[in-house]
Amino acid sequence: MEDLFLYSNHGLSMNNKETKSIRIQAERSQHKEHSVPVYLTSSFMFESAEHGMQLFADEVDGNIYSRFSNPNTSEFVEKIAALENCEDGFAFATGMAAVFAGFAALLQSGDHILASRSLFGSSHQILTKILPKWGITHTYVDADKPDTWEKEIIRKTKMIFVETPSNPALEIIDLEWLGKLKDKYGLILNVDNCFATPVIQNPSDFGADLVTHSATKYIDGQGRVLGGIIVGKAELIKEIRFFARQTGPALSPFNAWVLSKSLETLQIRMEKHSSNALKLADSLANNSELEFVKYPFLPTHPNFELAKKQMKYGGGIVTITLKGGFERAKRFINSVEMCSLSANLGDTRTIVTHPASTTHSKLSDQEQAAVGIFPGLIRISVGLENIEDITTDILNAIEKSKLVS
Ligand SMILES: *Cc1c(COP(=O)(O)O)cnc(C)c1O
Repeated sequence: MEDLFLYSNHGLSMNNKETKSIRIQAERSQHKEHSVPVYLTSSFMFESAEHGMQLFADEVDGNIYSRFSNPNTSEFVEKIAALENCEDGFAFATGMAAVFAGFAALLQSGDHILASRSLFGSSHQILTKILPKWGITHTYVDADKPDTWEKEIIRKTKMIFVETPSNPALEIIDLEWLGKLKDKYGLILNVDNCFATPVIQNPSDFGADLVTHSATKYIDGQGRVLGGIIVGKAELIKEIRFFARQTGPALSPFNAWVLSKSLETLQIRMEKHSSNALKLADSLANNSELEFVKYPFLPTHPNFELAKKQMKYGGGIVTITLKGGFERAKRFINSVEMCSLSANLGDTRTIVTHPASTTHSKLSDQEQAAVGIFPGLIRISVGLENIEDITTDILNAIEKSKLVS
């Protein structure tokens, strides 16, 4: 990692991640600003013809052009790399730009991806509709049937791509087991860690080579900007950086500034999202209007023990499946009063989403069922409001969505 733009005014005492997420900072200017300014500049100046030559030849470090690097994006990357225990990274305009770059930079025609079936809608679309155009194929495997994965690995398999917990099915995959599987076959393990965030789990500790994030969600945490990032092994990031530098999906300096500021509160936000979500899940667990309540730290979750083992907290997402299917779910959405109706998640505000009619509507009914999206499933991104107010709103909406006979 080129950390020349960065410095710490607390040097050796910066051992803990909460401190790093606050104190890693772009170098101060002569004005000695306390908060980092936004470097709204498309390019940077060369000191001389020779300096320009050296920069382009990678003989000296420095910023050239904000498509390649910028002090704000470097600060953001340095922080996430530190929080994820990774060597290096590159920041993208969106989470999907990061997901796509992870495939496009490292794979070629003929290569094969082993992917868990339960993925974010657009990741699913990239694998099924876009990559096959360039001869990159995939096989979907079931998160709940790990014993079936090994026999789907073929000679051309190069990468394993998973989400844990997955969006929105909240499937949990054993990262320790995955790390061993990828070692046995020499594969690249790429984990979308968006739902957990580095506060809850660090996939690289289990051997993940790449950790991908949509920073739009919990990393921003206040529903303001889009962003994405991949951190991981230096030699892989080098290829991703080359790809991104030429093809231009860079994160804007302003968004990087927002996201880097957000990281200062990530730890306390994730603790609170998780404790609110657990309380909500507990209050709903025995509700007779629901077919199922799913939350990683609820003992009824099929992978409760595993979740407890690899996650520090349960995260901020709870799903409920209403009795009465698609129509009931729509009535529920229309009955909510305080919570927001939106496709986003990870905000301070509680958001309710009906994946079957929105985020995952591009999937056929069969595909939806295979990824654990039932017609009556509601994804609740539990915010930071008072938990009693959140619970009251959800309970009222469950009640109101009953059909009056
Ligand atoms: C939202 C999301 C993405 C995509 O991120 P964008 O920033 O919206 O492009 C990828 N993976 C997961 C798990 C997500 O929730």
